[in-house]
Amino acid sequence: MSNTPQYRRVLLKCSGEALLGNQQYGIDVETVTRIAADIKEAHDMGVEVCVVVGGGNIFRGVSGTAQGMDRSSADYMGMMATVMNALALQNAIEQQGMDSRVLSAIPMSAVCEPYIRRRAERHLEKGRVVIFAAGTGNPYFTTDTAAALRAAEMKCNALLKGTNVDGVYDKDPQKHEDAKRYETLSHLEVLAQDLKVMDAAAISLARENAIPILVFSIQEEGSFARVLKKEGCFTEVI
Ligand code: UDP
Repeated sequence: MSNTPQYRRVLLKCSGEALLGNQQYGIDVETVTRIAADIKEAHDMGVEVCVVVGGGNIFRGVSGTAQGMDRSSADYMGMMATVMNALALQNAIEQQGMDSRVLSAIPMSAVCEPYIRRRAERHLEKGRVVIFAAGTGNPYFTTDTAAALRAAEMKCNALLKGTNVDGVYDKDPQKHEDAKRYETLSHLEVLAQDLKVMDAAAISLARENAIPILVFSIQEEGSFARVLKKEGCFTEVI
């Protein structure tokens, strides 16, 4: 353990669900503000922060296909949902006094910048929080895969997966009192045991690029900064 952050640049994957607060649908501004404050804490420690936001709080492609929609159309709607979340998060980050840019994989010039890797790099060098929106820009993918992809492109030292649980367990901790949290796992163990950390494409990409994944609870205030100092509860996939 140490009081200083263990990483120079990280990517935070924040699912759409994490923005729900106590709501069933949409964006809870109070929750988004709290996550922005957590990002500020990490930013103040000198860590360069990139964020990939999901869209599940608004729309998921699978729910569209379940109702008979074409998969690609539904997935594009899901990607649009991530842009809405990204704008909400950018607003909250700016209210915390940080500079932030949203870079969308689907160009949308009236609302944000298009994703250009070198531009993202410059923003980070200037101390801005970069939010990657619209996933990979392709249907049939997820924002987990987008997170692994952007983490590789931006040469992040770690991918932090913020969930509702403080790590990866051998069984559902909400159903089983004796569930045990893994301290560390390898990418291969996650794949072989089909542990629900991120989807397999994301895990494979992280493995090929030797990116550690730290799974932690984004619902606990200050947990993002704590994990960056290797404090508190989390599971590390290395
Ligand atoms: N999506 C997509 N391609 C991507 C990323 C996302 O088509 O590269 C769509 C997909 O329909 C997905 C939705 O956007 O269901 C929202 O993303 P995700 O489910 O990953 O969000 P999260 O579960 O993290 O909130």
